[in-house]
Amino acid sequence: MPATDGLFSVSTAYEATQKKETKVNWYSFLWKSMLHPSVQGIGWKVLRGVMHTDDKLKAGKFILATICCMCKQYEEIQEHILFDCSFAQKHWEYLKQSFYIQGTIHSRNDVLNACKKRIPLTRDISLQQPSRA
Ligand SMILES: [Zn+2]
Repeated sequence: MPATDGLFSVSTAYEATQKKETKVNWYSFLWKSMLHPSVQGIGWKVLRGVMHTDDKLKAGKFILATICCMCKQYEEIQEHILFDCSFAQKHWEYLKQSFYIQGTIHSRNDVLNACKKRIPLTRDISLQQPSRA
């Protein structure tokens, strides 16, 4: 709560600089689970849509020629790297066959829905669909 008396204080300055994020229900699954910390960090970036992909750099005013380093056909954006890239699709097909998963995997929600059928801890999690460029 910002101060209304017009006086500066460290606590009100700190509060004013904090970006408030929407509460998400996957927080406790990710941070209180038995996942390795490096996996938690990557998971947070994926779920928040903040992986350091070329599209994020371009949005930050960097000028660069961007291309997926795997297929070398499309721009490097998170959704392409994780789901749309032919290389990613081969991995999803491998995982689907290995874990007997039915259906297609083209989004984070597809992954979550596949997990909900097999991992009880994920049953109550929902994701906001990221906007696609
Ligand atoms: Zn690609």
